Amino acid sequence: MRLRVMLKSVFRGLLTNPVTGRRNMTQSNLAGMVAIITASTDGIGLAAAQALGHRGAHVVVSSRRQANVDKAVELLQSQSIQVTGTTCNVGKSEDREKLVQMTLDQCGGVDILVNNAAVNPFFGNILDSTEAVWDKILDVNVKSAFLMTKLVVPHMEKRGGGSVVFVSSVAGYQPMQALGPYSVSKTALLGLTKALAPELAHSNIRVNCVAPGVIKTRFSAALWQDEDVADEFKKQLCIKRIGEPEEIGGVIAFLCSKEASYITGETITVTGGMSCRL
Ligand code: NAP
Repeated sequence: MRLRVMLKSVFRGLLTNPVTGRRNMTQSNLAGMVAIITASTDGIGLAAAQALGHRGAHVVVSSRRQANVDKAVELLQSQSIQVTGTTCNVGKSEDREKLVQMTLDQCGGVDILVNNAAVNPFFGNILDSTEAVWDKILDVNVKSAFLMTKLVVPHMEKRGGGSVVFVSSVAGYQPMQALGPYSVSKTALLGLTKALAPELAHSNIRVNCVAPGVIKTRFSAALWQDEDVADEFKKQLCIKRIGEPEEIGGVIAFLCSKEASYITGETITVTGGMSCRL
């Protein structure tokens, strides 16, 4: 009994700031929550899984390739994060259903959904893009994010609420050169956030969005791998470096946390100050 009291006090000490006496915002404010993050075996999705997991959420990671899922699960487990993984191509309805069902079966419910998956199969003048390009981009980047949300909402309602985050892009505000269809798909997510937030507020589900600038991942390698291109790009930024995935993951975790309990229907741009220079 005395040992239990001692351990409790040591644990409380770890959670309390010795200077202010206030509880630290340790990474435990999402304890007991279950978070699905799509496309989460690399880049921003993986960083979001880490940020949510370090705050105590049980994270469900997925992507198209089993080997990538296995690697991500191993990494997260090595960081003492509670994690479940499966393959899911968000463009396929049977995969989306399998992901949600597996989450319910193995984790008992779902509280957080991060719609992070996106593709960009086209670079060039927008008038050269084909119907097949538009179908692919809108299916994966927009429709699947909406359909994942629609699948998950009834289960969040059963838990008394939840949080949905869409991953858009600064290109959603200002289309990037040669990335017309992709940029338009990201603009759609800004609208989807605003369309869903009022409908879901009465269910205590908040809907927000994050719009990253250029972040160092495989997806954006063309913008930072070549030093000359990267240097040119950095001139447009107040903070003269390319962002790191963790700098988006942390914002996503914030949007899902209690600290963001009065935020819904909003998009946070995380660009290193790009808009100050436009
Ligand atoms: P990334 O590092 O290339 O990671 C992409 C992840 O998505 C991988 O885990 C990949 O794994 C998975 N994936 C790809 N297609 C998928 C699909 N159809 N279904 C499920 N998973 C899929 O990409 P990222 O840069 O982190 O991008 C993540 C999000 O951030 C995207 O929405 C992107 O538009 C947005 N964003 C990125 C930047 C940037 O500069 N990086 C800027 C603005 C916005 P598999 O290959 O195993 O499927």
